[in-house]
Amino acid sequence: MVDLKGQYEQIKERINSSILDVIESTAFINGPEVHSFQKELEEYLDVKHVIPCANGTDALQIAMMGLGLRPGDEVITADFTFAATVEVIALLQLTPVLVDVEPDSFNIDPEAIRKAITPKTKAIVPVHLFGQSANMDAIMEIAKEHNLYVIEDNAQGIGGNYHSKNGNISKSGTIGHVASTSFFPSKNLGCYGDGGAIFTNDDDLAHTLRGIVNHGMYIRYHHDVIGVNSRLDSIQATVLRAKLPNLDHYNTARRDAAKKYTDAFKDQEHIITPNIIGSDDTHVYHQYTLKITNGKRDALAQHLNDNDIPHGIYYPIPLHSQKAYKDDRYNEADFPVTNQLIKEVISLPMHTELDNDQIDFITKTVIRFVNK
Ligand SMILES: *Cc1c(COP(=O)(O)O)cnc(C)c1O
Repeated sequence: MVDLKGQYEQIKERINSSILDVIESTAFINGPEVHSFQKELEEYLDVKHVIPCANGTDALQIAMMGLGLRPGDEVITADFTFAATVEVIALLQLTPVLVDVEPDSFNIDPEAIRKAITPKTKAIVPVHLFGQSANMDAIMEIAKEHNLYVIEDNAQGIGGNYHSKNGNISKSGTIGHVASTSFFPSKNLGCYGDGGAIFTNDDDLAHTLRGIVNHGMYIRYHHDVIGVNSRLDSIQATVLRAKLPNLDHYNTARRDAAKKYTDAFKDQEHIITPNIIGSDDTHVYHQYTLKITNGKRDALAQHLNDNDIPHGIYYPIPLHSQKAYKDDRYNEADFPVTNQLIKEVISLPMHTELDNDQIDFITKTVIRFVNK
């Protein structure tokens, strides 16, 4: 699905020498590399504060802790996403409220959010799924009306631009009150281990978050709030510093590959290609995800296996049907889109090193099988 080796080969010298420099410096934790990366990412995103942490799941959890959400508060999020999103809501004893998504964008449906709001609702967590921003204009409007926090799960969307209807263009993850991202190796900006970050434009919240990631300490050995230990280490930071200047180029390479896939699949009766809502640069193609509409998705997956073509089914089970997150409050009739998507979606290899021959082989194999 990804070609981390091919990407590494392009930046090998810089990566190797900077990792060696970190080892020589022995500043493994909270070293200057982490601080420099933080500043560089703030500049890239045009956001006031980046708080690095250990992974994208922690980033979400810490964001929710920083906002002071309390047990019993309801948090609305998408039924069709990676489990990390709902997991941290449940871990903090908040009440997850899963809602359906839109069939075209795969992202949380603003109308479904509206219907799920109760007096206990405190926050909305849109996920920019597969690399395309959720409808932030509508979500921010709802949040404002009902006085709710918006926590963007930007683990799949880093580097994308969101075009607001008022004409503003901002980086994905800088519109809500706070956002989280992941630097897991296969993400669009990935390190060589685990890593994550929280972004916000709110000075007070940033201060609170910086303490929470470090055991609730604002002054050494004074623990003002309950915190966690969640750090980005210097070796990961130095890898990210080497890759950040290439992020736009990486995302362009993904978009080019996506365009080639989409061109090859156009006019295919049983294949629906990803739908870009608005401008091209809103999508950074963390995944390139097709819908196979003639019931052959599972057979296609098997056929791709047989032909050694990597693929993924993201996601095969709706969160509301997962053992850990089942709840009597949920009604199947509220999730028509997710219940359909889980049967139709399949993601093809997507990375920065895909060449024309690979794309040609993959698309021909898919088309031949789906029409058989
Ligand atoms: C990857 C991912 C996460 C979690 O990130 P980790 O760094 O693996 O903890 C959270 N949400 C979404 C949508 C993701 O894709």
